[in-house]
Amino acid sequence: MSAAFVDRPPDRADLARALELTPKYDRPGPRYTSYPPAPHFVDEITGATARDVYRARGRGSPPLSLYAHLPFCESLCTYCGCNVIISRNHTIVERYLAGLAKEIRLAADALSGGPMEVVQFHLGGGTPTYFTPEELERLHGLVTARFTIRPDAEQALEVDPRVTTRAHLETLARLGFRRVSMGIQDFDAEVQHAVNREQTVEETQRLIEDARALGFTSVNVDLMYGLPHQTLDRFKHTLDLVLSRLSPDRVALFGYAHVPWLKAHQRKIEADTLPKANDRLGLFQAGVEAFVGAGAEFVGFDHFAKPSDDMAIARRSGDLHRNFMGFHTSAGSDMVAFGITGIGDVSGVYLQNRHQLTAWERDLEDGVLPVQRGYRRTADDELRGTIIQELTCNGRVTAAQLETAGAPWRTAWANELARLAPMLDDGLLVIDDAGIRVTPLGRLFVRNVCMVFDAHLGKVPPTAKADAPRYSRTV
Ligand code: SF4
Repeated sequence: MSAAFVDRPPDRADLARALELTPKYDRPGPRYTSYPPAPHFVDEITGATARDVYRARGRGSPPLSLYAHLPFCESLCTYCGCNVIISRNHTIVERYLAGLAKEIRLAADALSGGPMEVVQFHLGGGTPTYFTPEELERLHGLVTARFTIRPDAEQALEVDPRVTTRAHLETLARLGFRRVSMGIQDFDAEVQHAVNREQTVEETQRLIEDARALGFTSVNVDLMYGLPHQTLDRFKHTLDLVLSRLSPDRVALFGYAHVPWLKAHQRKIEADTLPKANDRLGLFQAGVEAFVGAGAEFVGFDHFAKPSDDMAIARRSGDLHRNFMGFHTSAGSDMVAFGITGIGDVSGVYLQNRHQLTAWERDLEDGVLPVQRGYRRTADDELRGTIIQELTCNGRVTAAQLETAGAPWRTAWANELARLAPMLDDGLLVIDDAGIRVTPLGRLFVRNVCMVFDAHLGKVPPTAKADAPRYSRTV
């Protein structure tokens, strides 16, 4: 039996129910920034594949999104899940820029048969502002020498307020950057000490004020729940500070993924200092109540946005999308990634760059695109990927999107619908002639809903050991 569908954020009654359901649904699962998830990428996809895929783009191909991965940080936050290189010796940037120059040139040569217009340019890391303003300007110049960044393109970057100056923001604003995302995680001193990231409210506030004064139109802050020593009261204090002092346009409230088997430095975090699954849900709910109470919209998964922000507008119109950079509003582009570990997505092929700096440089020295592995999606992957994307981004998948050639959707997805039946009974979903919709309670378990449509889950990825854990837990 299904309840009537209401689209609203989860409330306290949902949380109470979620606590009861946690033992049933808390299990390892992908976060679905791609489908299939990256552990299923294969080594057969190489730099030669990337070159051929790039060259095959014709005049009718979509415009481009560009991503540059700038992996350097001065110190390591122990919770970090990113691909980073820790170095206090900034001369490494010169070497990295030389590699990027080669990679951009190689990619542009291969892509030049198709549109070179860029609708989205994103700098991620690491810490992009590890680069000096002059170095960032040189990188931007390398890109604009070969690609055309449209005047209305979304140019965005991630910054660490501890190393970012007003001069950085002045340069970036002049280059057309209008979105900035700042890492915070938690302002509590004990939590900050435990994760080796000490950052004040004052320096963060000053930087946000500078960004706004310089014309940045959207400021995102990243917070994290599930960190060591976090308690509800302490986290509520952080939420109060974020709202009263920073008033961000967007908030990403990530759950800490404790995966020490993948990220060895996380072993520095003692497991018994981490909040348990039920406490994690309480922390997350505190975030939902704080941000929604302050007028933000719960966009989905772990994001909140002011109603006037593009992300909230896209969620309301069902146009929100998700990729390796998280939620975004510019669909219909091919993504080309530069820098170590960057993941591109061009003409239905995922292309992941080499992880090791020296291997990346060696390929570039040899005139080869530095792709280490990837995945060529099948029609079934595309269909399932769309369903998973719709569920995570827009909280529903319509009957039309579920329709496959030759069979009514309820017949085509009979196996999946049977596996969704317990979730239907638990009130996570509504299934009717309109399709499948995720209820406010179900939004807390959306990864579990998506996993039903994942045909790769349970298969051992080609490069993994059969019993190796691959994913963080879903709650
Ligand atoms: S600043 Fe960000 S990327 Fe760098 S170590 Fe900390 S969490 Fe990781």
